[in-house]
Amino acid sequence: MRVTDIMAKRMAFSFEIFPPKTDAGMEKLIGKDGVLDRLCTMKPDYISCTYGAGGGNVGKNLEVLDAVRLKTIGITHFTCIGNTREGIKQQLQAYLEHGIDHILALRGDLPFGWTGTGGDLHYATELVKFIRDTFGDQFTIAVAGSPEGHIQCRSLEADISFLKQKQDEGADFIMTQLCWDMDQFRYWMDAIRAAGITMPVDVGIMPVLDAKATINMALSRNGCVMPRALCEIISKNWIFDSPFAPTEAEASVAAKKASFKEAGIDYTIRLIDEYRVCGIAGIHLYALNQYEDVARLVRESGIKDF
Ligand code: FAD
Repeated sequence: MRVTDIMAKRMAFSFEIFPPKTDAGMEKLIGKDGVLDRLCTMKPDYISCTYGAGGGNVGKNLEVLDAVRLKTIGITHFTCIGNTREGIKQQLQAYLEHGIDHILALRGDLPFGWTGTGGDLHYATELVKFIRDTFGDQFTIAVAGSPEGHIQCRSLEADISFLKQKQDEGADFIMTQLCWDMDQFRYWMDAIRAAGITMPVDVGIMPVLDAKATINMALSRNGCVMPRALCEIISKNWIFDSPFAPTEAEASVAAKKASFKEAGIDYTIRLIDEYRVCGIAGIHLYALNQYEDVARLVRESGIKDF
């Protein structure tokens, strides 16, 4: 079964997880009755697993995907960073041998100070072409889409034209960068369709659960816009240093974190509602290797009955 076959029939529903760095973290994620088992009680159509730039955690990425594969379709993220053509061929062959035939083909974030990928391929377009030329139709290929434009793009138009090129090279569907700016998202959907991009769009949703993580996800990489409503939630539950207030007591910080999470869950559910009427093909929840809050989001948003 291919993810695109599911998307042709109905909206897909999936999770993203990441390979933990420690053995204890791995046990918590993929051990018996661990987070993965519990996430799979929600019957996701697929689960994707991130790939560390430079291939640092490839072993654990494959170990996680081996566990995913027993329960649902597994998608590996994959980047060009530091990878030679031969290295890519060998790694992708290994994925196929492990039954992983879905891939998110990425360039990867360039480490600070780098001007290129340090590998043989420079852009995701080249990686998509390489995968198709080397492996034919064995892989279903997803590619990244950035509704606000990639942080390094020279213009949104240029970024969209490269997305079209990914389709022309053989990509099958789009997985989006997080985007809280719904006006921008709707504009981008119209713009990619006008550009002849017909690939289904699977929307990546970062649950708003923690103030620090939310700010980090918005600003540490991609300069994402935070709408006023989201900024208000952060302001009303401010836990960082402030020139106008004394250092907060621990109990007060804990209460604000809990209050932030409640407001953030409500915000995320409303966001999912808005996305679902934008002609998208899937909701891809960043599960952050957690179960409880993610399950609550799924249940209360009504994406899936379980
Ligand atoms: P590209 O599509 O190659 O684009 C990179 C930049 O180059 C853009 O500005 C684009 O406009 C420009 N460009 C593209 N093609 C050309 C061309 N032919 N000529 C000139 N300019 C061009 N990173 C990880 O390291 N591991 C992960 O697991 C991971 N998972 C991700 C999951 C999702 C859903 C998303 C959206 C991103 C993920 N990333 C991950 C981050 C991703 O690697 C970065 O956003 C990276 O900086 C760009 O990757 P890309 O595939 O979008 O690059």
